[in-house]
This record gives sequence, C-alpha cells and structure tokens, in this order.
Amino acid sequence: MAIAKHVVDEVRARADIVSVIGQSVTLRRAGSSWVGLCPFHNEKSASFNVVPSKQIYHCFGCGAGGDVFTFLQKTRGVGFLDAVRELAGQVGVVVEERQLSPEERLRNSRRKDLYDTCEAAAKWYGTTLLVGREGAPGRDYLAQRGVTLDTARKYRLGYAPEGWNNLENHLKAEGFDADLMLRAGLIKKQESRGTTYDVFRGRLLFSILDDRGRPIAFGGRAMPGADKDSPKYLNSPGTEIYEKSKVLYGLSWARTAIQRRDRLLVVEGYFDAVSLWQAGFEEAVAPCGTALTAEHLDIIRRLTLKVIALFDSDEAGLTAAVRSLALFLSAGVEARRLDLPGAKDPDEYVQKFGAAGFEERLTKTEPLLELVIRRTLDKHGPSAEGRGRAADELVPTLRRLTGTVREATIRRAAGWMGMPDAELHRIVGGTASSTAVEPAPRRWMPDKDLAHLLWLVVHFPTESGAALESADPSQISELPEVLETIARLVDGEGLPSVLEALKDRAPDLARTLSQAAANSDLYRVDTAEYAARSIVARMELRGVESQILTINREIHHCETTGDKSSYAERVRQLSLLYARQATLKKLVNRRGGGRTGC
Ligand SMILES: [Zn+2]
Repeated sequence: MAIAKHVVDEVRARADIVSVIGQSVTLRRAGSSWVGLCPFHNEKSASFNVVPSKQIYHCFGCGAGGDVFTFLQKTRGVGFLDAVRELAGQVGVVVEERQLSPEERLRNSRRKDLYDTCEAAAKWYGTTLLVGREGAPGRDYLAQRGVTLDTARKYRLGYAPEGWNNLENHLKAEGFDADLMLRAGLIKKQESRGTTYDVFRGRLLFSILDDRGRPIAFGGRAMPGADKDSPKYLNSPGTEIYEKSKVLYGLSWARTAIQRRDRLLVVEGYFDAVSLWQAGFEEAVAPCGTALTAEHLDIIRRLTLKVIALFDSDEAGLTAAVRSLALFLSAGVEARRLDLPGAKDPDEYVQKFGAAGFEERLTKTEPLLELVIRRTLDKHGPSAEGRGRAADELVPTLRRLTGTVREATIRRAAGWMGMPDAELHRIVGGTASSTAVEPAPRRWMPDKDLAHLLWLVVHFPTESGAALESADPSQISELPEVLETIARLVDGEGLPSVLEALKDRAPDLARTLSQAAANSDLYRVDTAEYAARSIVARMELRGVESQILTINREIHHCETTGDKSSYAERVRQLSLLYARQATLKKLVNRRGGGRTGC
C-alpha cells in the first residue's frame, strides 16, 4: 500500500531534518549546514553533514546519505512507509490509508490499544523501580548486580512489586480495561474463581521493545531468595504484537552502535545485554528466552554481517552455539565465538574485569565453525572410524561454505582429521567453482566535469538549466539515469524525491548527489551559469575531438582504397568538426574566476 507522493513530500517538508537527526546525533552549525559524528561509521572528527536547505544528510567518511526518511529507516530499522507514517504523526500530517479493509482498520486500532497498554505498564514498572516505595527490593537487587539507576532509566528496566493486582489496579485507574491487559499478556485469568491476577509479581523487569522503540513485552527476573518453585526468568507470552522469534532484546538501543562498529554481540540473557551497554558495548542484543531463529538472522544481516556469539561457557551454551551455526551460514553472516574464561557469562565477565578487560578479550574470538569442527571431532574420537563419522557429520556444514572460506576451512578441517586436503575436498564435493563468490559490482563514479555539473544542477538548477538548454545529452552522459536526474532537478524537483527514485536503481549516483549537496562552496551563484556552460563545452569538445580522430583514420583508409566519394564526404565532415572544435575551445578557455575554492 503506497502513500501518495504529495503526502510524502509534505511530511518531509514539515519535518525539520536537523531536529530529527539531532535526536540521535549531536550536531553543531557549520555555515549553512550542520555537522556531527557519523552514526554509521566510527570516526573521531565530524564528517557527517546535514543540509537543511536541501533536506538531506551526507557523510563524507562513509558515503551514507539520503533524506529524513532514509535516516529513520537506517537508524530504526523500519521500512519507508513506516518512516513516513511515524514522522507524519509527529508533524501532524494525516496519512490516509484508504486501501485498508474494515477488518484491517479494526485490527490496527486494536493493536494501537495494545501498544498503549504496554507503554503504560512499562512506565508504571519503571517509576516503581526508580522511585516507588515498593520498588526498594528491585533497587537493592540492581545495586547488587552492579547496574546503576541511570542505566535502569535509560534501558527502561522496571519492578513489579509483590501482590496480585497492583498493575491491574493501576492500569484500570488509567482507563485500560482488563481485556486489553489480558491480550497484552500482562494479567491472567484464574478460571476457577473468575478472577484475574498480574503475570509479573516480585520481579525485576526488562522492557522488550519493537523496532519503533515501543514496549511490547517484558522479561522478569525473580528476586534472590524467591520461592524456589517459581522460575528464575518469566517472559511475556506471545501476543498480537509480540512474536518472540522475531524480536531481539535491546535492538532499539543497539541498532546504531551495530552499524557504527559493524558488528553485533549476541548474548544469552537480559542482564548480559544491560551490563555490556553500561560498560559501553552498545552493540549487544539477546534473543528473548528462545534460541536464535532464521527471523532473527534476517534482522541481523540488514545491520551487519559480523556476529560475535557470547553464549554461556557451560555445556548448554556450547550446544546453542553449535546449533546456531547453520543459521549463520545460511544467512551469509560471519559468526565468531568468544569464550570468557573465569566467568559464567558476559555480565559476570564485565563486572569482574571491567570494560577494558572485555575489550581486550574481544580480540580473542574464533570462528564459530572451528569450534563446531573441533567438538565434532572430539565427540567421535581419534580412531579411523571416528574420523569418518565426524567427516560425515560435518560434510553438510562444509558444503554451505563458499569461496576462499571454503578452501581454508576444508584445509584446516582436513589437518585436524589427519586426512589429505584432496580427500576431504572430494567428500565435500567439487561444487566450489559453482558457488564461488561473485565479484562485487563496480562502483560508478562521475569524472570531474560531470561531478561539477551535477553539483551545479543540485545547487543552481535555474542557472545550470539555462546553460544546458542547447547541450547535446549524449555528450553529457551515456547513462539514462544521469540525464533523467539532471532533467528532474532542472525542472525544480526537490533533491530528496530525486534521491528516493535513485536509491535502488542507481545508489552510486544518489551518493554523488547527496555528497554534492553537502559540499556547499564550489561555485557562486553569479558564476554558476557560466561555469555550467564551460563544463558542457568541455564535454562536447571531448566528443568532437574523438570524432576528429575517427574521421582522420577513415580518411586514411579511403586514401589507401582510393574511394573518392567517401573521401570527399569525410573531408567535408572534418572541416565542420574543426570549426566546432575552435568554437568550443574558446568557450572552454574563457572559463576561470567562477570557482570559489576546492
Ligand atoms: Zn559515515
């Protein structure tokens, strides 16, 4: 379902790109643009530019660029339509969703109520933990676990006090009915008595948020010394808005750090994630009380292809690591494993050895695959028979590998198995060539003249338009996208909507344009038309000069074959080309004084 273009344009126009991006990046003014540290790559000096007059951002360091919607999509992991809808809500533009059926509309409004209910619950749990009298046990427990109240506030931790109906009574007073709380998984029915009770009681709570940062579920840790019959961890049941297999705990806080550091740490527990964030490792997430799923990997691979698995050091943790390998391989994600000696989990490790100790340990990761191979070998023993069984078990995994990783891994595995490389290669199968990694597509880059012309069209469309009126398009570019883009900008279309159209078709061109927009002082307005004319002339001159060469070659050919009529025709063409060349040379050489620097 699409949103009308004029609505998208209106939302973009009303939203202030500086304040939207300013919510997650500290920006300072620099001339007509704003600069800050790029959220998409690691940098010490600011190369991330926001240009309000063009409604775009661009990073000179990593080439990231786009409009306010692109920014929300990348930092929040939402799709284009969701980014538009979210911003529309903030700036007061009504997005009509006419194509929704009545059932869909009803479901949407029911879901909205559920989000509100979970948000109200998270707020109340949070306040109770931070300041409530009944929250004291929670605060004590946090102190014992080395988690500060600041961290608790930032990551929306909460406390559910003892008692059967605390949350229910509070939410009822706020106007939420019991049916909503039941559907949100916050209360349960005691069928025999016809009463209801709070799901979470006497527990520290971790808010589980969706990709838009809305609470949708909770994970609850029992207090130390609690009844042995109740589970240590209790999680919200699946609901209309919460599907365990599709949600990673902490992703909304980790998302930009994952992109910046280009890696993701998967931990097993809520406390592991919280401890790592507090220690400055914000790229950590945890599955919510389940094993990793293919859906999780779908989410992960959009952010990074490098995962470090920090499963617990016990047998269960190892088994989980081994099981997840197939998922990582199918998703094309490079998985490494980090063992944490002297601690049972990342939380304990960070508490014991500090952030510096953990950082140091992070340099000691090993490919998860190697761990799996070694464990399989150990399991089957060193006999020839054992080796054979291990090989059989490993073959399906090895077959998933491609390219150089496949070569290297087979060589290594063969070494451990005491088997010749060629032998293992034969068993795994000679499909290496068919699965070889395809070369990366070449990146398009404009030459200097085209880059300058695009800059002029972005900044001074009217002036450049005048210069381009008599230009021969085929001399400017062979690419239809480039010509179309120039035409749209000259016609007065805004840069964001031009970028939107190019995003998937010609990402390199889009990058060039956002870079041009962020680069503010190449030419002045009073010299723009003149500069555009000389660039166009130079482009045409290059074409003319190459035609002159061709025709000279053809004339030479006519001389040897004695073809007189062709000869005369070529000479006539040549004199026209020489005349054009002389005119163009004058135009090109008269340039100068137009540039303001660079
Ligand atoms: Zn960057």
